[in-house]
Amino acid sequence: MKRRSFLKGAGAAGIAGAAVSGFPAPAISQNRMEWRLVTTWPKNFPGLGTGANLLADFITRGTEGRLTVKVFGGGEIVPAFESVDAVGAGTAEMGHGAPYYWKGKVAASQFIASMPFGLTAQEQNSWFQYGGGQELADEVYEKLGCKFFPSGNTGVQMGGWFNKEINSLEDYKGLKMRIPGLGGEVVKAAGGNVVNLPGAEIPPALQSGAIDATEWVGPYNDLAFGLYKSAKYYYYPGWHEPATVLDNFINIKAWEKLPSDIKAVVEAANTAVNQLVLSEFVARNNAALATLVDKHGVVLKKFPDPVLNGLGGLAGKVMNDLASGDPLSRKVMDSILTFRKGAIGWTTRSETAFTAARSLPFQYAEPSGG
Ligand code: CA
Repeated sequence: MKRRSFLKGAGAAGIAGAAVSGFPAPAISQNRMEWRLVTTWPKNFPGLGTGANLLADFITRGTEGRLTVKVFGGGEIVPAFESVDAVGAGTAEMGHGAPYYWKGKVAASQFIASMPFGLTAQEQNSWFQYGGGQELADEVYEKLGCKFFPSGNTGVQMGGWFNKEINSLEDYKGLKMRIPGLGGEVVKAAGGNVVNLPGAEIPPALQSGAIDATEWVGPYNDLAFGLYKSAKYYYYPGWHEPATVLDNFINIKAWEKLPSDIKAVVEAANTAVNQLVLSEFVARNNAALATLVDKHGVVLKKFPDPVLNGLGGLAGKVMNDLASGDPLSRKVMDSILTFRKGAIGWTTRSETAFTAARSLPFQYAEPSGG
């Protein structure tokens, strides 16, 4: 694909024409590249697949087509979970997914994705941009043959869909649940039987009873998948994924060959997409949650504090054990733990204190007409 478009661009009107006339060929016929962006998401999936589309569009328009990016849904040209291999090997130039999907290849990637009981989305972005996170993530992705950019964030997810109530940690024993990343390791430690499935395979698995429970993202995405049709209880909060990062991974050689102005466009496009995806989740989750409850009769349940407390303790232990066996995971985890400590001091006195204040029972203004 890349070779063909290069040949097309360097045809008679390009290099040959320039050699004859002695003038450089017009920029429009030179150095035009077409990249393939492979994703782990179903094509155009709300918030995730559309985030990848947005990235491709920003880069294509921002470079006036000098770098045209074409998006492929999970399984279209490579299986969803092999996207990073395809990009690392140069079969595709670029990918979009979530870092924990690569934990079997580089364990530290799951710490980049989101730590159970770890950082909020704002804190996570601050860690990337001002806390050394970008450099550490690049070190992790280099092992996959890729350059890394944070390229979207889901914000706090939901705890998941269950067909039975979770009243104590004991209730996780034998529970067959789809839950990826470190959260999955914690559920495993609680006695659960954990499976990982790409998004598209979740609804049929829950419907057929192949799994008893699943988490996916939050109201907006879960409504789109129709998960309410196969499970009764919708638990919160998503302790396991408080701020899951979406990743844009780029073949490192292809990245290094890019001219610096195109590099700047790719970087700026990711910064924009990172913010836009989070904003979209926040805006659309509000309406989707109301639809799930009012229209589909979903029963919302908060995990009891003793369950959260138990899971939190298990999370610390599980992550410590995983990190101790792998120096790069340890390095990433230590950096996040240090950042988290400082963030707790500030967030407790800013966001947490403010949202508590906002929830006090005072009478407030209402939108006119509503
Ligand atoms: Ca999830």
